[in-house]
Amino acid sequence: MKPVVVLSIALAVAAPLAHAQQAAAADPIAVLVGRLDLEKYKATIKSLTRFGDRRQGTERNRQALDWIEAQLKSYGCGDTERLQYQYTQPAPDAPAGKRAPGLASGGAGGPAGQGGSTLFGQRAATGVNTDPLRQPDATLRALNAEPTPVGASPRENVYCTKVGSTHPEEMYIVSAHMDGIGFGEAADDDGSGTALVMELARIFSAPGVRTERSIRFALWNNEETGLNGATAYAMQRKDMQGVESPKGSGRYPEPKWLGLIQHDMMLWDHGMPVAQLDAAGKPVLDAKGQTVYVSPPEQRREADVNIEYQSVSRHAEGSAKLAWALRAANDKYASRYPAAVGFHMTNTDSTPFMDLAPAISLRENERGQQIGAGWNPNWHQPTDVYATYSDLDFLLGLNAAQTTLAGVARLAGATVKR
Ligand SMILES: [Zn+2]
Repeated sequence: MKPVVVLSIALAVAAPLAHAQQAAAADPIAVLVGRLDLEKYKATIKSLTRFGDRRQGTERNRQALDWIEAQLKSYGCGDTERLQYQYTQPAPDAPAGKRAPGLASGGAGGPAGQGGSTLFGQRAATGVNTDPLRQPDATLRALNAEPTPVGASPRENVYCTKVGSTHPEEMYIVSAHMDGIGFGEAADDDGSGTALVMELARIFSAPGVRTERSIRFALWNNEETGLNGATAYAMQRKDMQGVESPKGSGRYPEPKWLGLIQHDMMLWDHGMPVAQLDAAGKPVLDAKGQTVYVSPPEQRREADVNIEYQSVSRHAEGSAKLAWALRAANDKYASRYPAAVGFHMTNTDSTPFMDLAPAISLRENERGQQIGAGWNPNWHQPTDVYATYSDLDFLLGLNAAQTTLAGVARLAGATVKR
């Protein structure tokens, strides 16, 4: 009897393992998530930093847009297009009331200041660096030297589309903003989100990948000046949704928006600022005698991906449902970092869509409560450069990519032929 018992135990252990491996092989979502790669994700962010901070209205911004478009085409992503709009850059000395709303004033898009949330605890300073000379790297300083032209001039967003095989008239939009500010490399804000969208475009466009519904991969411009690129898209195209054109062609230039998923600042979740200590271990005080708080140097152990919707938006219910679908996808497919759902979506390109369709944003921190309280010391600063981030930071971004890829693959009905 004894040997038989041992054998059956061995089988009992081996059988579920083999079963799990088979199940993974048959699960198209697991196959697609497996095609995400940390080194590829990092390489795409690194390539974007060749264009400095990609500030809107400059040659370095247009070159970045050209490069992104060439990449999307090289992935085989269909119908790569640009959407044009006018943007008026106010003069630097224009009175505040005449200036476009911008993140610098903390006013873009949030219905209640910081998004209706309040931080209890330690805060660190925030702000936008407007001095190009604060960039210590001379090469980068030269790259970022061209100022934005004052006055009205054209700007562009770029996008491409995976057309659905059975429901081409409906789509999910996966987006990020390709412009940046602060005279660094805009590596986290928002090279990290732009690279995420590009990686998903690459994977969904690969031969043998089919989705029932369409997916559009969109890179917005002018986020930092007040969500102008995303707003232009929403206004120009909202009434084109689900309209076949030309009639009888089976083509839908603007499939109906089932949901928009924006990605903005994916890398840094180092936690609440802590007191800065001097060489003797005593808290450093500022000129007013207050303790100076700084961000911890390492990713915090509780680091997670924040999936936010806006509770006061017209599509709050559908947005919450979309957020929880991505939360479930994270649970099953993310390799390291969990996700949390919150209802304070604010200050990013999903805001212009939130009264028109379900809209959510993914970030490494809640924008209102945490980034707004100084949890990210590189935000809009010369230190937002590729070299600032560790592999654990980049891995948080990759986990957000796993989350969105898996969630959208399920919602759009993805299959893989190998
Ligand atoms: Zn951003």
